[in-house]
Amino acid sequence: MQKNTYLKCIDVHCGLEYSIFSTRIECEKGHLLDVKYTQKPSESLKERFLSRRNPEGSIFNESGVWRFRELLNFCQIDTESIEDCASSLVSLDGAEGRQSKPYHMSKVADFVNLLVEGLWLQPEGYNPSGSFKDNGMAAAITHAKLVNEKKIVCASTGNTSASAAMYAANEGMECFVYIPSGQIAPGKLSQAYQFGAQLIEVDGNFDDCLAKSLEDAKKFAGYTVNSINPFRIEGQKTISYRSLEHLNWKAPDWIIYPGGALGNTSSCGKSLMELYEWGWIKKIPRIAVINSEGASTLSDLYNGKFEGDELRWNKGNPNYELIKRYYADLDSKGIKPKTKATAIQIGRPINILKALRALEFTNGVVITVSDNEMLDGMAVVGLNGFDCEMASGAVPSGIKKLIKEQVIKKDDIVVGILTGRQKDAMLPVDYHNNPENRFARPPKN
Ligand SMILES: *Cc1c(COP(=O)(O)O)cnc(C)c1O
Repeated sequence: MQKNTYLKCIDVHCGLEYSIFSTRIECEKGHLLDVKYTQKPSESLKERFLSRRNPEGSIFNESGVWRFRELLNFCQIDTESIEDCASSLVSLDGAEGRQSKPYHMSKVADFVNLLVEGLWLQPEGYNPSGSFKDNGMAAAITHAKLVNEKKIVCASTGNTSASAAMYAANEGMECFVYIPSGQIAPGKLSQAYQFGAQLIEVDGNFDDCLAKSLEDAKKFAGYTVNSINPFRIEGQKTISYRSLEHLNWKAPDWIIYPGGALGNTSSCGKSLMELYEWGWIKKIPRIAVINSEGASTLSDLYNGKFEGDELRWNKGNPNYELIKRYYADLDSKGIKPKTKATAIQIGRPINILKALRALEFTNGVVITVSDNEMLDGMAVVGLNGFDCEMASGAVPSGIKKLIKEQVIKKDDIVVGILTGRQKDAMLPVDYHNNPENRFARPPKN
């Protein structure tokens, strides 16, 4: 068979390659893997993607992920054949990514101090399971189906398990989710139950859950769908495709993400590297990652707050030892990630190296925001009639900070990704009942 797509280790000195049918999530030396394509897609596809917005009866045109299927055709199907799509591609009736595109939000623009025309926010919460994870999960479960895997495994702060369980149930697969007991928003937990997943409660935090789930997946032949899975990263590229398509493929100055396990940062970076290499975009947007103050691994390392060394991808020669020493330091001091924004309460971001690569390519920045800042960010999105959860609130509050620091300029075009919808019903209630909060509107009697 012709090798049109394959897996390749991201380490420049290693560069090991594997078949697309491999279920490896790391090379044999433990480095992350990329999905690679040998062919350069024709720019005329831009028109085809747009025309699919009239789906003509195909759920794969309706899907905001599979509408762009030529750019993640790791199944190597005839993308114009409905039969091929139907037998290979996993979709929840075309719902993933269907409703997500960037919007102007005037109150958020006021809050961050940008002109309303300069700010675009893309609510990924309007995905079928309520977060951007569906973009990646549709692709990961498609790969699971390609390689005949029926036992899906993930660790989760809530949204990954909701998404994995939903797609697994739909495909008749089993799903095992490792969650930190007592640390998951009830609205996320209930989805995992509702979709019939087997929960495994871990006495620890997300980082412990991921370690345990990876170990068990190896032992019991499970298929891991955390963002260490390179196919997750492929699916999530469509988040930036939809933003860019909406801007007529004219790259904005900035794309902003909250930073957790850094799958989004990695996938946005990969999408931009590919589009730039193909000449589909002429300019490279800068990525800004917003960490929580309480879970700031990337920010600490990138900004030289640990040992004074600024960690960089360094053309594929990152300082691996610095990362190891940072984690050892956290462990020796007993420091655990802590934020109310549980979706980004992650101390050991599994995709940190891909994220560094993305930051290097895009001349990116990393900052932190506090829990209160995230809550204000969440609340002001609501005032525009859009839903988002606390971790997504990092985006408006991060933009605000970067404008104040004059990193983002007042006439820059900024795209922010609102990663998920509210699943912690009491958060807005508590926020609005406290009159000290900036946007609070307490009830009257
Ligand atoms: C998973 C998640 C994040 C973190 O994204 P990463 O790709 O892991 O950095 C942020 N916000 C929400 C709502 C999430 O579900």
